[in-house]
Amino acid sequence: MATTTSAERKLLLDGEWIETGDWLEVASPYDGSLVARVAKAGAEEARAAVDAAERAMLDPLPAHKRAEILVRVAGALGKRADEAARQITAEAGKPLKAARVEVARAMSTYTMAAVEARTLAGEMVPMDASQAGEGKLAFTQRVPIGVVGAISPFNFPLNLVAHKIAPALAAGCAVVLKPASQTPLSALLLAELEHEAGLPPGWLNVLVGPASEIGDVLVEDERVTLITFTGSAGVGWKLRERAPRKRVNLELGNATPVIVEADADVEDAAARCAANAFSFAGQSCISVQRIYVQRDAYDAFRAAFVPRVEALVVGDPADDVTDVGPLISQSERDRVLTWVEEAREGGATIVTGGRLDDDLLLPTIVEMPAADAKLSCDEAFGPVCTLQPYDTLDEAIEAANATRYGLQAGIFTSSLRTALGASRRLEFGGVTVNEAPTFRADQMPYGGVKDSGNTREGPAWAVREMTEERLVVVQL
Ligand code: NAP
Repeated sequence: MATTTSAERKLLLDGEWIETGDWLEVASPYDGSLVARVAKAGAEEARAAVDAAERAMLDPLPAHKRAEILVRVAGALGKRADEAARQITAEAGKPLKAARVEVARAMSTYTMAAVEARTLAGEMVPMDASQAGEGKLAFTQRVPIGVVGAISPFNFPLNLVAHKIAPALAAGCAVVLKPASQTPLSALLLAELEHEAGLPPGWLNVLVGPASEIGDVLVEDERVTLITFTGSAGVGWKLRERAPRKRVNLELGNATPVIVEADADVEDAAARCAANAFSFAGQSCISVQRIYVQRDAYDAFRAAFVPRVEALVVGDPADDVTDVGPLISQSERDRVLTWVEEAREGGATIVTGGRLDDDLLLPTIVEMPAADAKLSCDEAFGPVCTLQPYDTLDEAIEAANATRYGLQAGIFTSSLRTALGASRRLEFGGVTVNEAPTFRADQMPYGGVKDSGNTREGPAWAVREMTEERLVVVQL
């Protein structure tokens, strides 16, 4: 049985929990059962939320108060960790063990944001470095950029919301948040925790409802000075086009490559790839998707990798032993199956999986797909990876880079020279060495190049995006 609790949830607007007379149903991706009904907002509530956020910022919160609230939220989340993990499982279909990791990471995100709230500072400008500056003192201050509009995806419904609202509070910005319609409950839990931690009215407003209506208000209202968006490339870049005068920070998709050199610890590489290609059914923006193995090590890697993938436990995400659960929707599951079939028709071999078991797509390995197959260059976002031999490192790097995306990539090798050389040539925001590129710790600067985005998230980087430098010059 999936973990489901049927309940009604209100929205947080200007410090009040409101109903709207209209409801949105949240259903379990595993068995379709009703998880909760959430009050549904539209443009009217979105405008009221921007009003509330603007009013809140007229009375700035000092850094120590912002930090105290952030620390309290981290503590309160720790106390409700089991409930938070079960809720992620219920709304997103994420296996419970992965959901528990997400909760621990969200606590870390809040803790790191609290550090930023206390340490955010400007810089001294060495004024007497030029004759013109002699006799003057100058420094910069970091001031909040203004009201932040935040839009988050379904796949990390707790921690990716934390990555927006915790740094925003650290920076001194009020937020209007629109979480994914499929998974709004974790965002509402964080709102509850911030509210209980003493956040004054208007600093966080959470609206669940039609993306276009709420998104349009965030785009069109000039008081929203920054939009922070995590989600798909198509939606993200369109938002940026529509809001040329705002800062629009984008964290988008990837088609994550891994290169395994023959001098690597092949067993270790196979174990890390097997664990990281299928966690949450591949629905992570940095799920291992394309594995390139140097020909001399190919058979050994394959022999170590395939049995590990076949040993993954597929089933009910609420079961503690489950590794791979459902995709977010049947239409997504069917899309991934179509991509696998397209690769097979183009000459690839399905090593394992490629079919449903009890409505769940089994972990799938596709060997030697054509270079132009979708699985070779686009984002699969499902429990599927490709396996391909190569002869030279140049060839592997060229294949890894042959995508419009550039978020994270990985290389396994025992040669420092190879690792550092590849890290410069791989066109990605981050490169992991002897670790799967699915790795992320929350204090890291995380973000992509090319179609994967235009910013870096992680509290230390996000607070800088959410503040502006104000120069002060003093005549002595
Ligand atoms: P999505 O369909 O783009 O949705 C993301 C968010 O955008 C949701 O809240 C969605 O609302 C909203 N949205 C949709 N259309 C909109 C519009 N016209 N205006 C304003 N907002 C709009 O993405 P997803 O399927 O939830 O998430 C999967 C994608 O996110 C993948 O591509 C994945 O790689 C990427 N991702 C990237 C990162 C990263 O840090 N780089 C992390 C996680 C995921 P509704 O739910 O109401 O439609």
